Amino acid sequence: MPTACFDVIGTCFEFTPVINTIAQRLGPTFKLHSIDPSLFFFSWFYAAQRDFTYVSQAGHYVPIAEVLKGTLARALRIAGLRKDEFTTEDIEAIAKQFKSLEAREGLKECWEYLQGRGVECYAVTNGGHATTKSYFEAAGIELADERILSCDEIKVAKADVRVYQNAEKKMKEQGTLKADEERWFVAAHMWDLCAAKAAGWKTGYVDYEEFEGCEGVFGEADVKASSIHSAAVSDHRQSSSRSNSISFSAHTRKPQTYNNPLLPQHQYYLRQQTRSINTSFLRALGITPPQKQTTMPAAPCPSTPTEILARNSIWAANIAESNPDLLARNAAGQSPTVLWIGCSDSRVPETTILDLLPGEVFTHRNIANVVPVGDLSVESVVQYAVAVLKVKHVVVCGHYGCGGVQAALGDAKLGRIDAWLANIRAVRDANKETLDKITDEKEKWTKLVDLNVLAQVENVHKLEWVQDAIKEGRLDVHAWVYDLASGRLSEVKKD
Ligand SMILES: [Zn+2]
Repeated sequence: MPTACFDVIGTCFEFTPVINTIAQRLGPTFKLHSIDPSLFFFSWFYAAQRDFTYVSQAGHYVPIAEVLKGTLARALRIAGLRKDEFTTEDIEAIAKQFKSLEAREGLKECWEYLQGRGVECYAVTNGGHATTKSYFEAAGIELADERILSCDEIKVAKADVRVYQNAEKKMKEQGTLKADEERWFVAAHMWDLCAAKAAGWKTGYVDYEEFEGCEGVFGEADVKASSIHSAAVSDHRQSSSRSNSISFSAHTRKPQTYNNPLLPQHQYYLRQQTRSINTSFLRALGITPPQKQTTMPAAPCPSTPTEILARNSIWAANIAESNPDLLARNAAGQSPTVLWIGCSDSRVPETTILDLLPGEVFTHRNIANVVPVGDLSVESVVQYAVAVLKVKHVVVCGHYGCGGVQAALGDAKLGRIDAWLANIRAVRDANKETLDKITDEKEKWTKLVDLNVLAQVENVHKLEWVQDAIKEGRLDVHAWVYDLASGRLSEVKKD
């Protein structure tokens, strides 16, 4: 069955209680300034929504409830109120009312209808987990904790593509989404759907908040409806002969052919947007902006120190939440069980490909994972890992497609690096007969990757700390190779 993720604030729940509280507390003052409470509300809410996303993009995630509360005074001042025309109590009361939004008409019926037909329903929200749970509880809708996916949990705001990717990942982990099934994202905000679509989702738009979908700006949603319940019901009747298919509209548009977007392109688009903002900012300051990058980056890498550090702060916040003891444990010491000797290649990061955490792999990496006899750096690493940390495994890991090994296949003079490549060229020369038999260049390259791993494992065995640990029965040495295309490790066997 398909899965359906619903945006929460504004889509499943609406803002009447907050607008009423604004009118009750500030109505007379608003009248003096000719301010409409509802118009004020949306001006505040949309600006807060924007700031929530902007600070997240800057690597400074703040929960949306805090952004709303923290920007309310600003919104009132911008609307024309003086500082003495509202109180801290007003701010508290209005912000607090956000915890009790009202269910959209027909929400309960819609969810029960879909759930009753085996559609897996989720809430994917910029709001907090506990508040979202209380919204659904008050609406009489049963929603398990794992069905609420709050941006607070990953500390990234919509419309970042990672929010939709995280939802997909969670649904797959929970077994509610199989690889080939449709996943739908339903929202009352076209910007949300525009991003969901870019992440590969089918999209359902309910227009009761925005009224105009502004398709020229956001593109088309797959379906469009004005009522969450009647749409789901009437369309299900119409489409009951189509198995495994749902949509959210009584007047479903002709299904569009869907081009699966390439993620790097999407990221590139976002990066270009950021760059253009920065460029105008620089121009305003009288600084000549750097030349625009015209080629597409190979991967969505951060390109400035600020972006790199922002990623670190997101990572640190995420790890502190997902694994609260880890950092404290690592600060107290390390007891890894694996020593990894690998290639410096950026595509083979040992901790990532082993799905381990900081503190679990002791590492030495150099070009083409070499263990030269007498090399001070690698021998110190092995001594410390084996004799002091007492790791249980030493892994020498090569990888197919290794540039170092490819360079060592030939004899071209490359400069300083030749002294290092000599280690691999020695392996090549020692196996000349085997390699000469292979005519295909790529096959020869692959073979030398394997032979090099085996040769380096032999060198590991020559080290006294390794010999001692093996004698004591507490160490194994492994010859492994990594396949870039499949992401798989395998053992290198001797012929
Ligand atoms: Zn390599």
